[in-house]
Amino acid sequence: MVRSNYYYPQSVELYGLAHRLYEGLSKDLNYNVMLSQRGMVNLCHSTAEMEVGARTVNAMQISGIDAELFSPEDVRRVAPIYNFSAGARFPVFGGIWQGRAGTARHDAVAWGYARAANRLGVDIIQNCEITDFIIEGGRCRGVQTTRGTIRAERIGMAVAGHSSVLAEKAGFRLPINSYALQACVSEPVKPILDTVVLSPGTGVYVSQSDKGEIVIGGGLDRIPSYAQRGNLPTLETVIAGVLEMFPIFGQLKLMRQWAGIVDVVPDSSPIIGESPLPNLFLNCGWGTGGFKAIPAGGTLLANLLASGKHNDISRPFDLDRFASGRLIDEAAGSGIAH
Ligand SMILES: Cc1cc2nc3c(=O)[nH]c(=O)nc-3n(C[C@H](O)[C@H](O)[C@H](O)COP(=O)(O)OP(=O)(O)OC[C@H]3O[C@@H](n4cnc5c(N)ncnc54)[C@H](O)[C@@H]3O)c2cc1C
Repeated sequence: MVRSNYYYPQSVELYGLAHRLYEGLSKDLNYNVMLSQRGMVNLCHSTAEMEVGARTVNAMQISGIDAELFSPEDVRRVAPIYNFSAGARFPVFGGIWQGRAGTARHDAVAWGYARAANRLGVDIIQNCEITDFIIEGGRCRGVQTTRGTIRAERIGMAVAGHSSVLAEKAGFRLPINSYALQACVSEPVKPILDTVVLSPGTGVYVSQSDKGEIVIGGGLDRIPSYAQRGNLPTLETVIAGVLEMFPIFGQLKLMRQWAGIVDVVPDSSPIIGESPLPNLFLNCGWGTGGFKAIPAGGTLLANLLASGKHNDISRPFDLDRFASGRLIDEAAGSGIAH
């Protein structure tokens, strides 16, 4: 999912940049990333959620984000297959709508970037694990890898899932907990859902891929873990939520389920900036929402590596916010409960 409906001005700048860059990405990379801006609705299942929704939409509109408060009728218009029946377990009181939000194909984004970087002369060395850092005179001077040593004046670390493991090797700690995040897809069916539906209350999000599969994502597993498979009780909760909201999916067969490890930070915002080890720069802590931020995360890290300095967009996301207390709490904006 790609969207930029976050709450705080700092996040609006960051994700807004990413969203705009996504809109031109296929052209920039000369590779179709299959961005489909089909709109996305965050459902509100109670009056209280609706009040928070209104506050969120107001904050977004003040920051210039294209957010709208949806009534139940609006939700019915974009997602008519939702379970609107009386007595439904997750009734719809309305929702937060972002029309420019949507989906992109994740493999295509990775392939597109790899191909474009390669064209610019960047070496991408696959299956090459960083095992340690070369530290000389109190500064990072390079990395040890399973395929030899690489020295550099500045090093960028973007190793989600293992940020704290690598940080420990570099001699510092990060405020990160790592969890498995799961998703699954059904067998393909004819077009039936042409928007993205997210239910923060149940921790479920649903969309339909171009191939027709129903793509279902869920909340984080409850226990920190590096095991890349995800646990069954979480999947069961997610599927139960989907079936309550979309009983029509009850007969679908699931084809695939997987999990990736995401690095979660206490304020659910990323960490971008120099690490406590000089010359080593961080780009981590994107939690469950780093895909939508790829073009901005990459641009900001590149800027840091090239200049050694923050710009206005990356500055608020420095690690020092955990010392100053200037947190950017996007626990609600992240959509999936962190
Ligand atoms: C199931 C699932 C669904 C998601 N859905 C969405 C979504 O809809 N929208 C959204 O915005 N985000 C989503 N996310 C989150 C998003 O995928 C992450 O936030 C994002 O991929 C983080 O990007 P990254 O570049 O920091 O890390 P990653 O993409 O995780 O890449 C880190 C890389 O570092 C490598 N690495 C780790 N340790 C080492 C080492 N020692 N040496 C060398 N390499 C190493 C890893 O192999 C990996 O390739 C989802 C995540 C999951 C798991």
